[in-house]
Amino acid sequence: MNIITQIAYLIASIFFILGLKKLGSAKTARQGNQFSMIAMLIAVVVTLLDQGIVDFQYIIVGVVVGSLIGVIVAKKVEMTSMPQMVAIFNGLGGGASAFVALAEYYGADSVAIFSYDVSVAMLLSLFIGALTLTGSFIAFGKLQGFITSAPVVFGGQQIINLLLFIGFIGLSGYFIFDPTQEMDLLIILGIASLLGVLLVIPIGGADMPVVISLLNSYSGIAAATTGFVLGNNILIISGALVGASGIILTKIMCVAMNRSLANVIFGAVGTDDSGGSSGAQGSTEQRNVTRYTPEDAVLMLENAQSIIIVPGYGLAVAQGQHIVQEMASIIGSQGGKVRYAIHPVAGRMPGHMNVLLAEANVPYDTLCDLDEINDDFQNTDLVLVIGANDVINPAARTDKQSPLYGMPILNVDKAKSVMIFKRSLSSGFAGVDNELFYDEKTMMVFGDAKKSITELVSLLKEN
Ligand code: NDP
Repeated sequence: MNIITQIAYLIASIFFILGLKKLGSAKTARQGNQFSMIAMLIAVVVTLLDQGIVDFQYIIVGVVVGSLIGVIVAKKVEMTSMPQMVAIFNGLGGGASAFVALAEYYGADSVAIFSYDVSVAMLLSLFIGALTLTGSFIAFGKLQGFITSAPVVFGGQQIINLLLFIGFIGLSGYFIFDPTQEMDLLIILGIASLLGVLLVIPIGGADMPVVISLLNSYSGIAAATTGFVLGNNILIISGALVGASGIILTKIMCVAMNRSLANVIFGAVGTDDSGGSSGAQGSTEQRNVTRYTPEDAVLMLENAQSIIIVPGYGLAVAQGQHIVQEMASIIGSQGGKVRYAIHPVAGRMPGHMNVLLAEANVPYDTLCDLDEINDDFQNTDLVLVIGANDVINPAARTDKQSPLYGMPILNVDKAKSVMIFKRSLSSGFAGVDNELFYDEKTMMVFGDAKKSITELVSLLKEN
């Protein structure tokens, strides 16, 4: 490859890294996306011009069809279905790496002369890529409800997985010393595809976002190893960036949920993805809560100077982000100070609340991370919890038996008064009761969040 190509790849890499850096904050995230798009454009255009392309016709057809599908799907997908879309993208990325590795093998003039390092890279690309493809599609199926979201377990499952992995290692060793063994490669493809299914089916649907983040990392590693097969530096760098950032994100999610990765993969917390099990309801129905109607709530709002809004998964379900933003602007125009407290795992995917609120043009400077805002709750007049539950559950601090124990939570219980918008007393993702509902400073406004806030906004406008 010539020097100009390498310089262009270096520039693309710088844009990729800057793009990732800027994705770290809601304020700069749009620019981060633009930087990454520029990087990708440079990488694709330079690669197409540099490599000896056999036939551009197929490439153009592929680009047009792929872009059309991508645009339509991205525009149509619901916010709550975003994890499924990411799962499909990861899967296709992994699959592409596996197929490129296979194409290199079948396209080679003589496979017998493959060096050890190329063979190893090819095997890894094929194995990780195929595993990512099938694993991601199982994750997609579980989230979309095509496959049961409950863990599917059967006797000897771990032993079968282990045997399949040993089979992969053995066949790989054989292939490295004798790359003419085409059948080895195909069996490895089969093993990896089967392992992808077997590793993901025992995991509950509600843990899929963490699994998807992990598979995202795998798709990056598969791309990087394919880069070694092709001797393409930008593929190695961009794949390594995806691999590393995916694993960092997985770690952040596990820490924010106070769970180990092993517990996510082999445990069974939150095995359904209903976004609210009624498991805790039976035990709590007898207890008293303070019920408020939107009419009662409006008086509280008008008397509060400082307000923090805590959004959660229920806000995404209700699609109430626009009306919440309208309410915040009305309160702001009446002299109240409104901020949003964003918990790192509120919702069902990383950054879920940031994306949801950005869609409603909520000003970035009103969005505060947990560390930034947690000490301010005690001086806050009123907290509006909209569709959040686990991320405000005080049991995470005190109850060692709770699956939430140890998870950092938003200090909503320290505020002067709390108003919670949800449909019932049902639990959230973790399936546990929330003492805050019964606290004397808490007012429960039951109903769909969008409906309740819409009523509240009309009353605010009338007054
Ligand atoms: P939760 O799942 O704890 O609670 C959501 C609440 O929203 C439910 O209790 C439900 O109560 C309510 N709700 C649902 N629909 C509506 C509606 N239409 N209107 C009003 N309320 C509604 O959500 P949180 O955001 O507080 O916590 C996220 C949980 O998800 C954490 O446990 C986290 O660990 C987990 N998780 C997060 C991931 C991430 O990346 N963000 C990934 C995987 C898991 P009701 O039915 O009574 O209305």
